[in-house]
Amino acid sequence: MINESSVIDSFQELLNDLDTLTYASYFCEIIDISMQDEESNRDLFKLLITAFYLIKNKAVDIEILARAFELKVLQATGYGFNLEHCCICRKKINTSNYVSFQYSGGVCSDCEKINGLNVSYAAYNAIKYLFKIPLENVHRVNLSKEIKYEIYKVLSQFIGQSYFRKPKSLDILNYLENFKQNEV
Ligand SMILES: [Zn+2]
Repeated sequence: MINESSVIDSFQELLNDLDTLTYASYFCEIIDISMQDEESNRDLFKLLITAFYLIKNKAVDIEILARAFELKVLQATGYGFNLEHCCICRKKINTSNYVSFQYSGGVCSDCEKINGLNVSYAAYNAIKYLFKIPLENVHRVNLSKEIKYEIYKVLSQFIGQSYFRKPKSLDILNYLENFKQNEV
């Protein structure tokens, strides 16, 4: 017998699989876009294997994994963020509410905030934390939906500006997300 909830349940499983596969393909795409020389490629491959391992064990928030993965790839390919110092005047900072894309890092309260994005202090601190910890520890991190979205915005724009090609794999999930929101 078919009832509505079992139909929805069966799609939910499909959508979860789609989510997982889309992120897995996104990780490959990011590696492809950012590849440079042999040495950084080896580091990137190690990151990819770690990410796949975490996905396979389903022990991780895949969105948080994706953000940490992006930060590690940026770092391995020479686009790391400077989050401990103001990226303009080099003064030591504990936190910030602005990330500059031009200078790749946080901006102190005295410096001019251009070519970047405003972020909440909580999102800034979360980026700083994800940047610091090894990828395999990401399963211990918990972030709210809002913070995850802020970090997504910062990193997707920064990635778009840093590499020659913009990744497209996640577009399908954004499309589904918009679709879901319009439904309600
Ligand atoms: Zn400054």
